[in-house]
Parts: sequence; C-alpha cells; structure tokens
Amino acid sequence: MLPVVALVGRPNVGKSTLFNRLTRTRDALVADFPGLTRDRKYGQANYEGLQFIVVDTGGISGDEQGIDMAMASQSLMAIDEADVVLFLVDARVGLTGADQGIAEHLRKQNKSVYVVANKVDGIDGDSESADFFALGLGDVNQIAAAHGRGVSQLLTHTLMPLAEQFPDMQVPEEEEISQEQDAENQLEKLLASPIKLAIVGKPNVGKSTLTNRILGEERVVVYDQPGTTRDSIFIPMERDGREYVLIDTAGVRRRRSISEAVEKFSIVKTLQAIEEANVVLLVIDAREGITDQDLSLLGFVLNSGRSLVLAVNKWDGLDKDVKEEIKRELDRRLGFIDFARLHFISALHGTNVGHLFESVQEAYNSATKRINTSMLTRIMDMAQADHQPPVVRGRRVKMKYAHAGGYNPPIIVIHGNQVKDLPDSYKRYMMNYFRKSLKVMGTPIKVEFREGA
Ligand code: GDP
Ligand code: GDP
Repeated sequence: MLPVVALVGRPNVGKSTLFNRLTRTRDALVADFPGLTRDRKYGQANYEGLQFIVVDTGGISGDEQGIDMAMASQSLMAIDEADVVLFLVDARVGLTGADQGIAEHLRKQNKSVYVVANKVDGIDGDSESADFFALGLGDVNQIAAAHGRGVSQLLTHTLMPLAEQFPDMQVPEEEEISQEQDAENQLEKLLASPIKLAIVGKPNVGKSTLTNRILGEERVVVYDQPGTTRDSIFIPMERDGREYVLIDTAGVRRRRSISEAVEKFSIVKTLQAIEEANVVLLVIDAREGITDQDLSLLGFVLNSGRSLVLAVNKWDGLDKDVKEEIKRELDRRLGFIDFARLHFISALHGTNVGHLFESVQEAYNSATKRINTSMLTRIMDMAQADHQPPVVRGRRVKMKYAHAGGYNPPIIVIHGNQVKDLPDSYKRYMMNYFRKSLKVMGTPIKVEFREGA
C-alpha cells in the first residue's frame, strides 16, 4: 500500500504546479503512448525516492459561506481518503478569508494537515509566511513548487512519519535495484507468492459480475475482511492449479446482502489496487466504447508497469454490425498498446472467462520469466548488429552488456559508452527487439541505460 497525499487549497495557489512536479517521473513512462488521457487530478508520484498517490482536490474555493456546502463531494472524498493533507496557501497573496474557510473545515477532520506556503521564490519567505500561523494548523512549510524549492524537505517532513505504516513507500536507490542479485531475489519472492490479480474498471462495467462469476466457478472459500472504503478486499483463490489473490475493487465481498448497494467507486482504491497487483485486468464496457475514464485508468496501469489484460465486457446480445464497429473503435483507440491481450467476454454468461485466465497466466509468466546476463547481452549484440547505434558527437554509441534489473515488469539494464545519448527512437527499437526476442506478452518491459561498464 502507498500513502495518499491530498493537495487542498483555493484556486491559483499552485496545486497543479506541485502535482505536475510530483508525478513527472511516473508520467515519463507513458510518454511513449500518445492518445492517452492523463488524469490530472490523480497521479502516481515518485519523487526523490518516495512513492505515493497524489490527489489534486481542485473544487474547493473556500470563498462561499458554509464551506461544507461549497465542497464538491469529490474533494470531500479525496480528503477523506488521504493520509496526509497538504493545505496550500499563496505566500505572495497572504492570508485570505477563503484560506480561513478551508482551514476551518480541515480542522474538523481527523487528518494530518500541513500548511504549505507556496511561491516563496524571490520574496522573504519567513516574513511572508508568518501570517499563516493564524490558521491554527501548526508550522508553515515554505516551498516554491514551480522551482522545486523546499519540496523534498516538505515530503520528508510529512511522509516519513508514515514510513513504518507504508513500507512500500520508499523506493530502493536506482543503483541498488540494478544489481542482478537484487533482481534475482525479487524474482524468487514473486515466484513463491500467489498471483495478485486486480480487476479494475470504471463503475458499471461489470467488475462485480465478473468477480462473482470467477469466484462462483471456483467455489472458493471467501471470508470477509475488515477495511475502510478506500481498501480493496483480498480474496485468495485457486485456478488451473495456480494460487491467486483477487483484489476486489468492486467491493463484492463487502456487501452483506445482495440488496446492499455497492460502495462508491474510488479512484484511490483503484490506484492502490493497481500498485498492489502483479496483473491488472482492465474491464471495458462494450456498450459504451472507450471513454476518457477508461483511458485514464489505462494510463495508471501503464505507469505502474504492471502486466495487463483487457476485457471488453457485455459482448452478449450484440448485433454483428455493432460488434464490428466496436472492434474498429477499439483498434483505433487502443492500438497503441501492442503488448496486452484483449478478450471479448460476457461476465453475465461466463463467455470467454477461461481464455481471460490463460492470458492472465501468460502475462504473469512473461513478467516473471528469468532473464540473465548472457541471454540479454546476446540479444543486445544481435540488435546492435542488425541496426547500429548512431554516432553522437563524433563517436558511435557502443552498448557493451546487458543484465536483469528487476521483474514485473522485466527491467533490462544496458551498460555502454554514451548510451544515455541514444535517441528515443533507438531506445524504442531496443525495447521492441527485446520484446520480440524474449517473446513476452502481457507485460511492458523497461530498458534502462547506464554509462560505463
Ligand atoms: P492551482 O489553481 O492551485 O492548481 O494553481 P496553479 O498550479 O495553476 O498555479 C497558479 C499560478 O501560480 C500559475 O501561474 C503558476 O505558474 C504560479 N505558480 C505556481 N507555483 C509557483 C511558485 O512556486 N512560484 C511562483 N512565482 N509562481 C508559482
Ligand atoms: P461494476 O460496477 O463494475 O461492479 O458493475 P456490475 O458488475 O455491478 O454490473 C453493472 C451492470 O451491468 C449490472 O446491471 C450487470 O448485470 C450488468 N452486466 C455486467 N456484466 C454484464 C454482461 O456481461 N452482459 C450484460 N448484458 N450485462 C452485464
């Protein structure tokens, strides 16, 4: 599990500037997939060794009378789901009535709230921030989100107290995970564990129906687990001789009766489930086509590097013409993800659910298929022979050897001279070459480049 950080504050204080800074590294991973709608309210943050989920709550202006009324339910829910609330104020503007309105509301919540005075660049931060003590929310943290000043200290200060509760939050140093031994240890651990499968999708696509179908077929023993709204339920199950843990974002098993309403869809819950999973099953509704929400969920999956299987649900009872039209649209809008299998299913009737699991297995196997230095270096040499790296600043880039840097997704680390200067097109060529040679399906692969031997 990753901690959730909510950014709160009236418009124009710099929430989205901070949000963009925090999520930039993760976004870089999906840069290769044009056509994705990025959700600018929710993001997977990776900043100076800390991983967390960040939510820009937007919709609070604080200007209105009666802050409770003014708060959009989305923002309220985001604050409710957060472990840490960063309350941004504008050091250049000073304390406003709107800030006080928001503070009043935040004080009522049982949350860790930190006041963050933004835009302290080029001004006397200490004296301009002093006003904000009047908010009665403790110390005032000074940052300049636009320049990154103070951001790292802010995160250390606000997130490190949660380190014990969220051990996954701290990313090992890059050099560390690049070690082949670490990769091998990671693989051993993955292979000894059940496959964690998250079923995600926007509301009403059929997640609950599919989950029940899968569980019904398997006649597994299921037990209720306690949790809060933003937690998914983990359901152990077995299928085709493999052990799984189903991460149920639809909350199927939390309902005490059929009639009890399914709890609200939560993006935070979905993001947590994706981060937690080995394989993500993204469910799309055939009858609605590809929506922006599907694309932003897809963006989150791609960012996470998890294995992916796509299920187009509600394929029952559709005319042949309609089916053809849907297939064309899928091809047009999802054609850019070339590594994921796509299945047309009916969760209601159970059609093709078996094939879905074949792809889940395949995706997991690909993500955890052992790769070693001699194999990777051989493939790298072949790629280099087929298509030489370019000359950069008068010298030909030379890739020397490759080794495993991690699994799920497989990470291939290439060492050589000037490899950091390789153009993106060549890096993509290498990735595709590895993909084809290693015959991996269902998982993205990452190729990293390191200078020197
Ligand atoms: P939001 O409405 O809270 O999301 O605010 P934005 O992130 O859109 O920022 C509002 C304005 O403040 C933009 O013009 C930003 O460029 C500017 N801004 C954000 N952070 C800083 C900062 O650290 N220093 C300065 N000088 N301006 C900033
Ligand atoms: P969730 O919100 O993603 O968990 O979606 P549900 O599983 O609650 O399904 C939403 C609605 O779609 C319900 O009325 C289901 O009966 C219906 N539904 C789910 N799967 C299928 C399917 O394969 N075919 C058809 N025709 N309807 C389905």
